[in-house]
Amino acid sequence: MIGIFGGTFDPVHFGHLRPALEVQQMLGLQQVRFIPSGHPPHREMPRASASQRLAMLRAAIDEQPGFVLDEREIRRQGPSYMVDTLLSLREELGETPLCLILGYDAFLNLPDWYRWEQLIELSHIVVTHRPGWLLTEYRANPELVDLLEQHQQSLSQLGRQQAGGVVFVPVTQLEISATSIRRQIRDGESIRYLLPDSVIEIIEKQHIYR
Ligand code: ATP
Repeated sequence: MIGIFGGTFDPVHFGHLRPALEVQQMLGLQQVRFIPSGHPPHREMPRASASQRLAMLRAAIDEQPGFVLDEREIRRQGPSYMVDTLLSLREELGETPLCLILGYDAFLNLPDWYRWEQLIELSHIVVTHRPGWLLTEYRANPELVDLLEQHQQSLSQLGRQQAGGVVFVPVTQLEISATSIRRQIRDGESIRYLLPDSVIEIIEKQHIYR
């Protein structure tokens, strides 16, 4: 099974890295592919350039076995739709089960994603719990209630199919966001221990987020 972890990673931080590692271990994933979005369709353009975000991610995951940087969304023209990303991965990887890893906040917005109903045909969806979000919040959205009624599974079932399951996984709760890291840099505060030193070094050398 291969994990797919998309985001703006502006910058990547321990709130991305630790949950990704825990999901990798819990599900026995051969790989977790970090896929930074080129042109995120649902938000403003990232503050750091694509090449800076790639450099920061590369530095963060370099030494971790199974963590892989996947540049396909950055290289593609136009908005970075996850459905296109999964279609291209499916073409490349054949029948390998794919697991799209989403924080709970991202999961709550899923019905707004382009052709979102197709995502579950192409991969499993693995939802990690994120601080500050009630686990019952999805019930306000009938589309998510339907999705879970039809697709929620136990962890052990996932590997049996290439796609089609939704699971919730508990991960260590780390109240870290890229937004707050960018704010702290602007305010001249230390960002140490929120993200890897190798990433901080790049931010400082290149004066990103100043
Ligand atoms: P921003 O503050 O700029 O919105 P972010 O820190 O939320 O950024 P993204 O790159 O937008 O990071 O998030 C990518 C994915 O990582 C999403 O699925 C999101 O839910 C998840 N994620 C981000 N931060 C955390 C965290 N602290 N704990 C668990 N999941 C997280």
